[in-house]
Amino acid sequence: MTKISEILPGRRSVSIELWPPRTSAAEERLEAALAELDTAIHPTFCSITYGAGGSTRERTHELVVRLEAAGRCVPMAHLVCAAHSRAELAEILGRYRAAGIENVLALRGDPPLDTPVELATGELVHAVELVELAKSVGDFCVAVAAHPEGHPDSPDRESDRRRLAEKLAIADFAITQFFFRVEDYLSLVDDLSARGLSKPVIPGIQPITNPRTLVKMAEMSGCAVPEELAARIDAVADRPEEVRKIGVEVATDLGAQLLEQGAPGLHFYTMNVAAATVEVCQNLGIGVR
Ligand SMILES: Cc1cc2nc3c(=O)[nH]c(=O)nc-3n(C[C@H](O)[C@H](O)[C@H](O)COP(=O)(O)OP(=O)(O)OC[C@H]3O[C@@H](n4cnc5c(N)ncnc54)[C@H](O)[C@@H]3O)c2cc1C
Repeated sequence: MTKISEILPGRRSVSIELWPPRTSAAEERLEAALAELDTAIHPTFCSITYGAGGSTRERTHELVVRLEAAGRCVPMAHLVCAAHSRAELAEILGRYRAAGIENVLALRGDPPLDTPVELATGELVHAVELVELAKSVGDFCVAVAAHPEGHPDSPDRESDRRRLAEKLAIADFAITQFFFRVEDYLSLVDDLSARGLSKPVIPGIQPITNPRTLVKMAEMSGCAVPEELAARIDAVADRPEEVRKIGVEVATDLGAQLLEQGAPGLHFYTMNVAAATVEVCQNLGIGVR
């Protein structure tokens, strides 16, 4: 049992996001990716996503508990308050506590569009309320999401940063949405620091491997894809290996700048595939045993 907040200080963390697999074929792919990531990077921790509305409720729990039991990578369970009642969330947190899980990423989530209206919001409206609930249910290390370009629902960046500061004040650390401009991350950290907050904010990096996924995810998260990058990807969109090469180059360059500017580590959105993340880490000389 390890609290991530206790192992972050004094090291440059390299962490990964994984999805709980849906089928046995996906399970095999995840196992292969995990083995490769473990050997090549030995991640500081791995975070396991949760489907808003509870669609991965059991699968997230099962994978988190399995990783904890295997002792190969400190797991962090994502939990989403949208479309859940307070009692359901308390029950999920209680099960984690009983299983010895110490790390939770508390999120609002974006409920699927077909979620019934009465469930869409959930009883807890914002992630900050889930941070409070988690802290009241057990002695969890609680992380939160940060949005360097501002959350798409926010009227402006200033109000989003103020809300982030409120939740980070009671949480232990933050992980950002993916982004491409290092200045968006630096301004977020400066802003939090001006508000008296110096808790770790780990930048999230998404190595581009698929143009369609990039467009979809950028739309969902409100991340701006710089015009020059979009044009480079467009020009090779029908050549997957070229897309991947550009993705690795861009992620390596972004990671290098972030670490140089003092980021406490890097968090990789792996999409359950090891190759691009491993390549970026090897280029940067980080995370390797
Ligand atoms: C690292 C990371 C991991 C993620 N993992 C998942 C996942 O596993 N599953 C999933 O479904 N989604 C996931 N997401 C996406 C996330 O759920 C969405 O970005 C969601 O829209 C916002 O979540 P949040 O926790 O930042 O929400 P919040 O912190 O609640 O913020 C949402 C909006 O409300 C505003 N706000 C916050 N507090 C208040 C308040 N008290 N009063 C008024 N306004 C307020 C904020 O400024 C923002 O505009 C992840 C995102 C990140 C960055």
